[in-house]
Amino acid sequence: MNQERRDLLIRRTELGLFFAGLFATAILAKVFVEQVPLRPARMALAKVIVPGQPPEPGEPGPIYSLGGELLAKSVVRHAVCANPQEFSLEDERANVARQLSRVTGAPIQSFYPHLCEKNSQFCYIARQVSPGVAATVRELHLKGVFIRPEYGRVYPQGSLASNVVGRRGIDDTGLTGIEGLWGFCLNGKASSRRWNVDCGGETIIGADPDFVPAEPGSAVILTIRLPLQKIVEAAMDDLVAGHHPVAATCTVLDPRNGEILAAASRPTFNPNDARSARPEDFSCRTACDVYEPGSSFKPAMVGAALDAGAVTPRSAFVCTGVTEIGGRRLSCWGEWGTRGHGTVTPADIIAKSCNLGAAQIALRMNKRTQYQYLEKMHILEYRAREHTYVNLKGEPVHDTLASGLDGEQPAYVPPIDGLRVRDQANIGFGQGVYLSDLHLLAIYGAIANGGTYYYPNVVREVRSASGQLIRRRAPLSGGTLFKPKTCATMLSFLEGVVRHGTGGPAAIPGVRVGGKTGTAQIYDWRTGGFLPNEYVMSFIAVAPIEAPRFVVLCRVTRPQYGSHGSDTALPTVRRVLVAALRLADDLGA
Ligand SMILES: [Zn+2]
Repeated sequence: MNQERRDLLIRRTELGLFFAGLFATAILAKVFVEQVPLRPARMALAKVIVPGQPPEPGEPGPIYSLGGELLAKSVVRHAVCANPQEFSLEDERANVARQLSRVTGAPIQSFYPHLCEKNSQFCYIARQVSPGVAATVRELHLKGVFIRPEYGRVYPQGSLASNVVGRRGIDDTGLTGIEGLWGFCLNGKASSRRWNVDCGGETIIGADPDFVPAEPGSAVILTIRLPLQKIVEAAMDDLVAGHHPVAATCTVLDPRNGEILAAASRPTFNPNDARSARPEDFSCRTACDVYEPGSSFKPAMVGAALDAGAVTPRSAFVCTGVTEIGGRRLSCWGEWGTRGHGTVTPADIIAKSCNLGAAQIALRMNKRTQYQYLEKMHILEYRAREHTYVNLKGEPVHDTLASGLDGEQPAYVPPIDGLRVRDQANIGFGQGVYLSDLHLLAIYGAIANGGTYYYPNVVREVRSASGQLIRRRAPLSGGTLFKPKTCATMLSFLEGVVRHGTGGPAAIPGVRVGGKTGTAQIYDWRTGGFLPNEYVMSFIAVAPIEAPRFVVLCRVTRPQYGSHGSDTALPTVRRVLVAALRLADDLGA
């Protein structure tokens, strides 16, 4: 019997046994849920559903922020079910349906067709009803109607961090976010009974089944700091109200260990009312949107050229406004396309966001050197990255969940073999490379901490229902990106952006802030061209420069109002940064 047919048969038989068993007088046959090949002359245990004893579901574990605030918890609910075979008369069936509809609030038409199915022994009348409604149904003593326990999910923080936390479906399976990706930890185990069976799979007469009680799932503790998350969400609401973007994100990273302290996406949803949301509202865009970053990528490539010794802070370049590279006309941005920035150093190129200067710096490296740095930035990895956690014995264990955020996408960079001179120049100012926010945050995190690349991470710990530590995700280093000296130089360049460059409005009195603006066209894969007058605008900031604790990135995709990163994303970043610096000592390490 092939696996598919066997699975189907198992499923059918289980259901049949389960409910027919309510009245069964004899123990029915053997159904293996987890079939193992039975070896001759050897006893094996197999799980068998016992007639008349519906399995108790295991309670899904909660999700917490790092401060211990509940982000998701389970509540006891019930399902009202019926066996359609129990109604021999149509009047009887209609009467039961009317009573159930009145008590549960479920419209008759939503369950009546199932109640009439001739070959079915089970149907749902209403799901996720409260214990009070379940008690009322029981008191009606309706023949053929019974109650099954199940769990519902409540999100005490509503839409706060909902794109990170995600949601569960009615069948109590995680669908998106931590709920989906970390379901293997959160999900409880249903109760079961194991029968002793012989080598032929026959139940051994007289042997009592072992009852295996339901087990609750584990708790997942995130790195999210709720006080900061609240500020980020409020800032994002104002951003959306003011600029009407198609999408937007704001993320705060701790550069010292790669922890994600706050992450918000727009559009968003309230997981307590997920049914009214649209499919696009569920995405965790910090992880899954991949886009051309534009100018916010310039520091990555200028840093690479400095680190490789291809340029020095005193190297000089000339921006004439327009030039030709590899047969393609390339112009600087805005009015500088006609005026030109003149003679510029690497610091000027970052502060003024000069495209021609950034292109020339990129071309000072050979493409192999350029790719070595792209590799160190972990943007050439096409497969899911591995993450490491420490198990109870303190041993490092590999885990393939990367950041822990749902839907994480790899970056895209054209293969080195086909790379033309003009492609190499484009990468210098963030075109022709496609990254997620996570990639960009990690690169700035490395510049901020003196050179160590940390994989961004949103899950701190997993604990059993009794509080025992099951796994801890240690900060995972992806190696050294730049030398400390290069990082110090780059931080001073980023500070220059805020002191006398395109990021001026990000200045905070008494705090040394560095940052970079980004405004990029949007490539349309369907037409093979750029969308006219549509941009991704961003601002990324690092502070305080002398010992950076925060990297804040805000990205605004296709805003209706606003033309640059400095007037859309920058005010949001500044607001979040001010709050983060104020809260810094209370955010916990
Ligand atoms: Zn220029």
